[in-house]
Amino acid sequence: MTARILNGNAIRDQIYAELKQEIAALVSAGVRPGLAAVLVGENAASQIYVRSKIAACEQLGLGSWRHTPPATVSTDEMLALVEELNARDDVDGILVQLPLPAQVDTKRVLEAVDPSKDVDGFHPSNLGRLVSGRPGLVACTPAGAMEILRRSGIPLEGADAVVVGRSDIVGKPMALLLMHANATVTICHSKTRSLPEVVRRADVIVAAIGRAAMVEPGWVRPGATVIDVGINRITDAAGAERIFAKYPVKLAQFREKGSVLVGDVHPDVAEVAGAITPVPGGVGPLTIAMLMSNTVKAARQRRGRANAVNSPSAMALRP
Ligand code: NDP
Repeated sequence: MTARILNGNAIRDQIYAELKQEIAALVSAGVRPGLAAVLVGENAASQIYVRSKIAACEQLGLGSWRHTPPATVSTDEMLALVEELNARDDVDGILVQLPLPAQVDTKRVLEAVDPSKDVDGFHPSNLGRLVSGRPGLVACTPAGAMEILRRSGIPLEGADAVVVGRSDIVGKPMALLLMHANATVTICHSKTRSLPEVVRRADVIVAAIGRAAMVEPGWVRPGATVIDVGINRITDAAGAERIFAKYPVKLAQFREKGSVLVGDVHPDVAEVAGAITPVPGGVGPLTIAMLMSNTVKAARQRRGRANAVNSPSAMALRP
């Protein structure tokens, strides 16, 4: 059996098409939703992420601003910038790209963001809203994983779901979203005993671990749905050959570029699973799509235009 591939790029395109219409309607009513991105210093990966987020805003017709404090910025200067963005009416979403330099108190900065503009869903008040099942802004990666499951028609009600990973930005919110969708949820982490056996009970597996190809075919019940959140770059030839032994195209990619991406799930799991998200092209594209969706949602809520109850941005935030 070969798993059905859950194509994140195609689902992202669907969401963008829906958002474009919603944004056009808001703009003609005099509201252009806008996202302010704060990018500190010269971190190459952060620069790439922020560039793709701004490009997505431009593609969809959202306003966007980039603020680029130097790597030497202090906590107080960051707090002043966040306050300025909180006060601006044309800014609906504030995105502080992580990681921040060591001298900056990241927690204080994230907690200073107005919860109604917290499009990353990191503020404790939004996390609390998610816990209690009230509408709010949900972290983009788990919200995106839920969109993949819903739009692919994967049944969740009564399903056994196992989430491996309990971070505040992926594992925990993912488990809460699955629970609100009436799955029976188990959360695993580095201290979980007999992890493979626990994972093997699942109808739906979400891997958010940060360990290359850790979930092996023997951990997966035949026919299960597997959502692979992990993004790991393999740079050693032995590792690439071990993981991608059956995938000459990936090995050729490795030889050409000197590195190759793999998720937290071993690629051979596709021989056992019923459905699986690829890496790249699975959960990744949905993370930016949900950021866009959250920005539109924040604009509608904050500027009092909550008229599109069944819009994609409203659906994404429904617990
Ligand atoms: P964290 O490092 O914050 O959390 C990892 C979690 O995995 C922890 O809860 C940890 O357990 C658990 N874990 C680590 N090792 C093991 C192990 N051997 N057995 C069982 N559990 C283990 O990572 P994130 O949640 O931020 O990210 C997870 C992955 O998702 C990463 O690969 C990251 O790159 C990727 N990611 C992808 C995104 C996307 O857009 N697709 C966005 C965000 C992240 P414990 O709590 O006990 O330490």
